[in-house]
Amino acid sequence: MVIVRIPAELRPIAAVFAQGGYQCFLVGGAVRDLLMNTQPGDLDLATDATPPQVTAIFRRVIPTGIAHGTVTILFQGKQYEVTTFRTETTYSDGRRPDSVAFASTIDEDLSRRDFTINGIALDLHDGHVVDPFGGRDDIQRCVVRAIGEPEERFREDALRLLRAIRFAVKLDFAIDKNTLAGIRRAAPTISRISAERVRDELTRMIQSPDPRRALRLLRDTGLLTPVLPELETGIGVPQDGTAAPDVFEHLALSTEGAPSDRLDLRLAALLHDVAKPDCLQEQDGVLQFHGHDDRSAEISEAVLRRLRYPNRLIAHVSHLIRHHMFHYTSDWTDSAVRRFLSRVGVENVEDLFALRAADRYGKTGRRTADPAIEELRVRIAEMTARRDAVSVAHLAVNGTDLMAAGIPRGPAVGTTLRFLLETVMDDPGQNHQAQLLEIARRFYEDRLNVEG
Ligand code: ATP
Ligand code: MG
Repeated sequence: MVIVRIPAELRPIAAVFAQGGYQCFLVGGAVRDLLMNTQPGDLDLATDATPPQVTAIFRRVIPTGIAHGTVTILFQGKQYEVTTFRTETTYSDGRRPDSVAFASTIDEDLSRRDFTINGIALDLHDGHVVDPFGGRDDIQRCVVRAIGEPEERFREDALRLLRAIRFAVKLDFAIDKNTLAGIRRAAPTISRISAERVRDELTRMIQSPDPRRALRLLRDTGLLTPVLPELETGIGVPQDGTAAPDVFEHLALSTEGAPSDRLDLRLAALLHDVAKPDCLQEQDGVLQFHGHDDRSAEISEAVLRRLRYPNRLIAHVSHLIRHHMFHYTSDWTDSAVRRFLSRVGVENVEDLFALRAADRYGKTGRRTADPAIEELRVRIAEMTARRDAVSVAHLAVNGTDLMAAGIPRGPAVGTTLRFLLETVMDDPGQNHQAQLLEIARRFYEDRLNVEG
C-alpha cells in the first residue's frame, strides 16, 4: 500500500468528515502534485456525503455548484471545493453530461475523470492512494493517457482534447500514442465547446513554460484549424533572415520569449505577425510584409473577441501589435522620440519594448541585449524627467483656456490643441500659457477660421 503524507491543513477537515461517518478523499491536480513532489495548488475533495450532508457538518459552506454536487467549504480562512462522488452518464452533445448521478464509491468517481494522472485519489483518513487506472505509473513515465477508450472520452467532452495538451505542456509529459491518435480523430469536435472554455484552456497553454510545444501540438493534431485558424496561414510562409523556418514558428517562439506571467504580452507575441501571410510581397528577391502591423492588430482583435477575452486586454494587445514596427536609431531627433511616445503612450512603452524583446527572441531563440532599445529607454527617461509634453493633457493650456481666448466650442478646440501639441513636441520651450494662446489664436485665424 502506498502512503502519501497528507497536507497538515486537511487533517482537521478529514476529522470532521470522519466524525460524520463519511469518506473523504483528496482528488485532482493536488494528488498529482503531491506524487510529483511539487507544491499542490487547489485542494479539491471528494466525499460520499451529499451537499446537504456536507452543509450540515461544516459551519461555513457556500453552494457553489449544487447541480454538479459541489459545495465550497470555508475552513480556517481557506476555501475547499467538495464534490460528492459522481458518475457522468451520457453526453449527447459533447459539452456537458445530460445528467449527473451520484456514485457510492471513489472508484466510480475516478472513472469519470479524464486522464489517468487525474484519476488518483488520496484517502484522507489513512493516507492510502486509490489508483485504479495506473496513474502513478503514468506519472513516473511522464505520460498523459486517457482513462479508458480515448475517442469515447473525447466524444463525451471535447474540452478534454485541449486539456490533454495543456497537461502535457504544463507537466512536460508526452501524450500516449493511442490518446494522441484519439485527439487527431476527434479534433473537429472541439468546435462544439463554448468559446469561454476554449479560451481558458488556451490561456493556460499560452502561459505555460512551453507555449511553443502547445502550439505545435495544436497544429499537429488538427486542433489549430478549429481553434486558431488565423495562425494556420503562417505555416510554411517563410520568415527571411531568422532562425524560425516560417511565420508560425516565429510566432510560437516569440510567445515563449514573452514573460509567462503576462497574458497580454504572451498574446501580443503570439499574434503580432499574424497578418504576414496576407501581406506577403516579393520585391527584388526580398520578402516584404507591408502593412502587416495594422492588419495584424485588426486580426488579433477579431481573434481575441471571438475567444471572449476581456475588452481591455484586447485593446491593449492590438495597440501593442499596431505599434510593434518602430525602428529606432540614434539619429532620431528628440522631436521624433516625443512623437513616438505620443503615438504609443508613455504608459505602454515598456510593454512595447517587452514585445520587441519577445519578437527578437522569436527570431534568434536567444535573449540578447538590444542596445538600440537601451538607448531609447534612456532618452525617454530624460524626457519624462523634464516633463516634456507628449499628450494634450501635458500642455500649459486646455480647451477651456482656448475657448476663453475666443476659439469657438466645437471641433476647432481639439484641432487646435493637437496643433499646439505638435508645436510643443518640436520645441518644448513653447509650452507656456501666454505663448501657446498666441500660437493658438494665429492658428485659428489662419487655418481654421477661413471664412472669417
Ligand atoms: P490544475 O492543477 O491545473 O488545476 P487539475 O487536475 O486540478 O489541474 P482541474 O481542471 O482543476 O485540473 O480539474 C480537477 C480534476 O477534475 C481533474 O484532475 C480531473 O480529475 C477532473 N476533471 C476536470 N475537468 C474534467 C473534464 N473535462 N473531464 C473529466 N475530468 C475532469
Ligand atoms: Mg485544479
